[in-house]
Amino acid sequence: MNCKTYDVVIIGGGIMGSATAYYLMRTAPGLRAAVIEMDPSYSRSSTTLSMANARIQFSFRSNVQISQYAFEVLENFEQEMEIDGNRPSIAYRREGNLFMVNEDGRMSSENSMKMQQDMGCDVEWWTPERIRERFPLYNPEGYVGATFGPKDGHFDAYGVLMGYRAKAISMGAEFVHAEVSEITKTGKRITGVRLKTGESISAGSVVNCAGAWCSGIARTAGVNLPVQPVKRQIFALDTKVKPDGPLPLTYLPSGLYFRTETGGLILLGKSLPEDPVGISFSWEDKRFYELLWPELAEFVPEFESLKLVRGWAGLYAMNTLDENAILGEWPELEGLFLANGFSGHGLQQAPAVGRYIAELITKQAHAMDLSIFGPERILENRPLNENGIY
Ligand SMILES: Cc1cc2nc3c(=O)[nH]c(=O)nc-3n(C[C@H](O)[C@H](O)[C@H](O)COP(=O)(O)OP(=O)(O)OC[C@H]3O[C@@H](n4cnc5c(N)ncnc54)[C@H](O)[C@@H]3O)c2cc1C
Repeated sequence: MNCKTYDVVIIGGGIMGSATAYYLMRTAPGLRAAVIEMDPSYSRSSTTLSMANARIQFSFRSNVQISQYAFEVLENFEQEMEIDGNRPSIAYRREGNLFMVNEDGRMSSENSMKMQQDMGCDVEWWTPERIRERFPLYNPEGYVGATFGPKDGHFDAYGVLMGYRAKAISMGAEFVHAEVSEITKTGKRITGVRLKTGESISAGSVVNCAGAWCSGIARTAGVNLPVQPVKRQIFALDTKVKPDGPLPLTYLPSGLYFRTETGGLILLGKSLPEDPVGISFSWEDKRFYELLWPELAEFVPEFESLKLVRGWAGLYAMNTLDENAILGEWPELEGLFLANGFSGHGLQQAPAVGRYIAELITKQAHAMDLSIFGPERILENRPLNENGIY
């Protein structure tokens, strides 16, 4: 069997794999790069099953910087991804994110807001009166206020994925429909990958962009990642009373979140501690009827009347060490790069991560230093904390 050779092989062609391929081709034209994706329909990829939200409101400084870059990229995305006069459409809607704050969370919310404002971000403190005035359907009783990011918003995740993918292909990257079964190595150096078909592909660098499947494939090279697939569910609701305009992505301190979807439906979700670990996409409406609806109706009494239209389940790649990205070359295996463990906020991180990984592989200076997310912390068991101090 003949063995193909590339400079870089990327395992997984979701948003991380496709963005990395694009930035690699932009950074090093002529590079031989292949993205190996087992499901080109992307029906199980977290990218296409997400809420597609981008927000500036993070408590960890580096995550704020990553989002600042995402905003910049998304604003110009359609133009940047143009191919032969054709532009993708990504329906980028900056309708805001509203984080409701109760007394317990007040100090940490104020600290985060101050840090974001010091970094030049648009974030405002809203009193309960202002919330009521702007969103009369909401019942802010029991809350001390909210932080509002007017530039936060959502976009068409599939559109962004296809934009990166098509542009990377137009610049010379190859997308291969296959499943990687093993990462191959000799001693402490990567040699490439083996496919389920038995075919071997050799490469100087291999990037693990396998999303919720990343730990299984890393293990074939003897690398243990603290990343687990965890099922999360989203519900689409048709409410009897329609809001006057779009509702921002609204987060309650309990973890319940919802926003208006294009077309007037409401999308809603909540991560629960009992969410099952494992690769499963089954979906149950019981959770909505029994747990989430009463909570929603308390905050938005008019949503007492609604129809559950549909729903779906997707996977978070949960980093059990500190719920943050794991980025960079694995210290014990030369040539193995990781872009893993995004734990529910990876979509908006793809532009910064893809560019950073491309710069690492091609040994270019970094436009944004993301070494704080380096994988050394896994080996040393040093979780990142809110201030970015280990
Ligand atoms: C319900 C939900 C809501 C979310 N909401 C948001 C949000 O609002 N904002 C945000 O920023 N993020 C959000 N996220 C998180 C975000 O979707 C992910 O962090 C991001 O999409 C991860 O991208 P990825 O490319 O790493 O993974 P994926 O999109 O899952 O791509 C990985 C790809 O690798 C392929 N693959 C895996 N193993 C192999 C193999 N062995 N061989 C070949 N191919 C392989 C898979 O088929 C898959 O296509 C949400 C996630 C979920 C589930």
